[in-house]
Amino acid sequence: MSPKQRHDILPTGGEGGPDAKRPGRVRTRTCVGCRAETNKRGLIRIVRRADGGAAIDRTGRASGRGAYVHDDPGCLELARKKRSLDRALHTAIQAELWAELSH
Ligand SMILES: [Zn+2]
Repeated sequence: MSPKQRHDILPTGGEGGPDAKRPGRVRTRTCVGCRAETNKRGLIRIVRRADGGAAIDRTGRASGRGAYVHDDPGCLELARKKRSLDRALHTAIQAELWAELSH
């Protein structure tokens, strides 16, 4: 297997496919805490790092598997208790990250 990175080419139209014109087809994110779908506002993006840990993606542009949680103590608590963020990222979230998130 070649370790060469393949650049994925989006099909013509990308996200603006036939569905784009349908009302209500707004791109949403699901909070791993309350599971509510929402737009990007008010959400924190967490990405899985190459070393297997997780990090807060403050730019929202980091590549890799990402998950979203509301910037809300209740949602953070739910995500932590249910380990839904761990599951979403297929990794164990470090205690330090939770501490950082609940600031
Ligand atoms: Zn939430």
